[in-house]
Amino acid sequence: MKHTDVAIIGGGIVGLASALALVRQTRARLVVLEAEPAIAQHQTGHNSGVIHSGLYYKPGSQRARNCVAGRAALIQFCQEHGIPFDLCGKIVVATETDEVPRLEELHRRGEANGLTGLRRLSPEELREIEPHVRGIAALHVPETGIVDYKQVAAKYAELVQAAGGEIITGARLLRVERQSGALILATAQGELFARHLINCAGLQSDRVARLCGLRPEVQIVPFRGEYYQLIPARRSLVRGLIYPVPDPRFPFLGVHFTRTIHGEVEAGPNAVLALCREGYRLGIISPRDVWQMARFGGFWRLIVRHWRTGLGELHRSISRRAFHRALQRLVPELAHDDLIPFGAGVRAQALEPTGALVDDFRFVQAENMIHVLNAPSPAATASLSIGETIASMALQAFDLEAAGVMR
Ligand SMILES: Cc1cc2nc3c(=O)[nH]c(=O)nc-3n(C[C@H](O)[C@H](O)[C@H](O)COP(=O)(O)OP(=O)(O)OC[C@H]3O[C@@H](n4cnc5c(N)ncnc54)[C@H](O)[C@@H]3O)c2cc1C
Repeated sequence: MKHTDVAIIGGGIVGLASALALVRQTRARLVVLEAEPAIAQHQTGHNSGVIHSGLYYKPGSQRARNCVAGRAALIQFCQEHGIPFDLCGKIVVATETDEVPRLEELHRRGEANGLTGLRRLSPEELREIEPHVRGIAALHVPETGIVDYKQVAAKYAELVQAAGGEIITGARLLRVERQSGALILATAQGELFARHLINCAGLQSDRVARLCGLRPEVQIVPFRGEYYQLIPARRSLVRGLIYPVPDPRFPFLGVHFTRTIHGEVEAGPNAVLALCREGYRLGIISPRDVWQMARFGGFWRLIVRHWRTGLGELHRSISRRAFHRALQRLVPELAHDDLIPFGAGVRAQALEPTGALVDDFRFVQAENMIHVLNAPSPAATASLSIGETIASMALQAFDLEAAGVMR
């Protein structure tokens, strides 16, 4: 049987960044187990590609700290490794008067999180930056950018392997047994003896925690985000990134326009409660996922609290016209035929038994193990900083001295 000091479950950007931080700081043997035939097939490969600035998050939270530090580290990483990125900036646009105080609150949060260059825009100044956008007030966030996270994750994987770490794809973790203080991991590719485990399984992270004998309080609830693209002839309607003022009750940002690093303009994502954790189309249902949600009290409390918003999101999912209307609030000239459907992503969002959506990143330690139980946006932006955080938790909690810690 193969032996390793650390097994990381999940070859998404969080697992790979944690692997990278560990191979840089220890001589421990390290294996990343990825269920899919290739890395970055789920959230990391299906997102908006935005390098977030840290505007939205509660000052002092893990999300705020890791986003600001991770953004700076990511930009340096991209520069060092020739990965294309663009700090194109973004605007957050208030279209109704009741959104203006929330926009002001975002401005304050951004400043508290150490962002620089934030600027309130009048409608005229807004038009200078984005001529086709209409709003009564806006905030310019120059530190926001764009990148392709699949490229970033591929580079992390390359560096992990170059430093001696191993990445095994097609190796879904199926069972975990404890044996004399260590773990026997049964995977789709055979057994692995691991002294320590780090769970970065995204949409499956609560299940992996349960396989490891934990009883996590929270449960993952999947929220699908659907995208449209602007037809090439209408891409000129959007210069950079255009966001609405988000509803503070939810961790999602509202449908927005994003110019991608490859030159397309995407619109979305909405946030529809999905009936399958890895279901990228409306209508895909996993009886196991539905059953697990239905048995969780937190799910019903979420529904009772937010059914109206949920129905609105569902309506925007079913009706292209409703999606179009939401986007038209920001860019009135946008015509229905300017949009073509373009894929979806599914967010792994942890839910409390109370029905509250977990706002912050959540890292839980157990004997020989670290579990990442909530790593929603901006975890891609923050990945290098999250990796450092996980690695320092591992260096403190795991017995890696024996494996040769480099000090
Ligand atoms: C629609 C959408 C838009 C987003 N936009 C942005 C954005 O613009 N900017 C930003 O910073 N963030 C964004 N995010 C968030 C970001 O993409 C995620 O936070 C980040 O990718 C999480 O990475 P991860 O490694 O935790 O998860 P994932 O990328 O989902 O990786 C988890 C991995 O674990 C594997 N796995 C699961 N179970 C097992 C098992 N039993 N055994 C082995 N492997 C297993 C999976 O196959 C998967 O590869 C967005 C997310 C979505 C869905």
